[in-house]
Amino acid sequence: IRVLGIETSCDETAASIVARWEDGAVQILSNIVYSQIDDHAAYGGVVPEIAARAHIEALDGIISAALEAAGTPLASIDAVAATTGPGLIGGLIVGAVTGKAIAAAKGVPFLGINHLEGHALTPRLTDDLPYPYLLLLVSGGHTQLVLVRGLGDYERWGTTIDDALGEAFDKTAKLLRLPHPGGPSVERMAARGDAKRFSLPRPLRGEQRLDFSFSGLKTAVRLAAEAASPLSTKDVEDLCAGFQAAAAESLGDRVSRALARFTREFPELADKVLAVAGGVAANAAIRDALSHAGAKYGVRLLAPPHALCTDNAAMIAYAGLERLEAGAYCQTSASVRPRWPLDENAIPLVGYGK
Ligand code: ATP
Ligand code: MG
Ligand code: FE
Repeated sequence: IRVLGIETSCDETAASIVARWEDGAVQILSNIVYSQIDDHAAYGGVVPEIAARAHIEALDGIISAALEAAGTPLASIDAVAATTGPGLIGGLIVGAVTGKAIAAAKGVPFLGINHLEGHALTPRLTDDLPYPYLLLLVSGGHTQLVLVRGLGDYERWGTTIDDALGEAFDKTAKLLRLPHPGGPSVERMAARGDAKRFSLPRPLRGEQRLDFSFSGLKTAVRLAAEAASPLSTKDVEDLCAGFQAAAAESLGDRVSRALARFTREFPELADKVLAVAGGVAANAAIRDALSHAGAKYGVRLLAPPHALCTDNAAMIAYAGLERLEAGAYCQTSASVRPRWPLDENAIPLVGYGK
């Protein structure tokens, strides 16, 4: 079975072909991502109208490139999956309409996919991982702990009460005048910095709830930067190191709480897994904090390769593949949903094991 996946929810135009072979193995045949980052660079953030237009211009070429790289003619595609939410409405419409048109022309099913479900199922695309597992989604727009019980069966345990962690990295970089995207810039500077020089808060540390908070930390960095201004390179390195250490420690503390609950709820589970998704998972200090937390509770950290942690269409194609196989899909009636929480899935389907 071969599924064409389309992702256009934010500032990446992406297409991918994912196949399930007869022996059950999954393979990514192609995974093409065009980042619009340069189109938005001058504005310091994603401009929805520019994004929508850029998707229109790029998408046909990206889909052709994905088909060609996969060595798959359009006639060999068994289904088309496109992100139908959450995200920017213009981009979602472009992807959904294109996907539906291809599906209708070829007479194959169309699957509207929740972008967050794509992130949530990525560990099953890269690894032979049975349900259930705990997922930490840490991206530019989301910081969530989700219990993945089965396809379409997600329970949100915690979320950020203010900024997403990637957003906090980006805003911190911006206030320190480091280049966008902020995460990699901050990590690079932090490598040479002294994390102990500035004393910064560890938001929500020790609290019972499983939520996150990062805006106070970002503000503390701003105040420290203002006090130390004008900033030398050394000051910036130390501020980055301090911010990253505080963010990692806060995240580790929150995740530890969740792991305690996870091991309590699933004592019998042989292979307990904490999977991470989202661009922030690329950060070595963050990964360290997470694997330390995991080690305390006998939970294995599973971090997919970076290219599959950030926005891509392979995860959308794969979610489409699982839904197709489960018969849990809709035809062309699926409309786009700019706001669409993962635990409020339009096509729920409960299942354990494979
Ligand atoms: P979403 O998927 O929630 O809509 P998004 O598309 O912005 O949001 P991703 O593409 O998954 O998210 O990730 C981008 C985010 O990851 C940015 O905020 C970026 O700064 C952050 N990031 C990337 N690399 C690193 C790194 N090495 N350290 C910290 N953060 C990083
Ligand atoms: Mg993005
Ligand atoms: Fe994403």
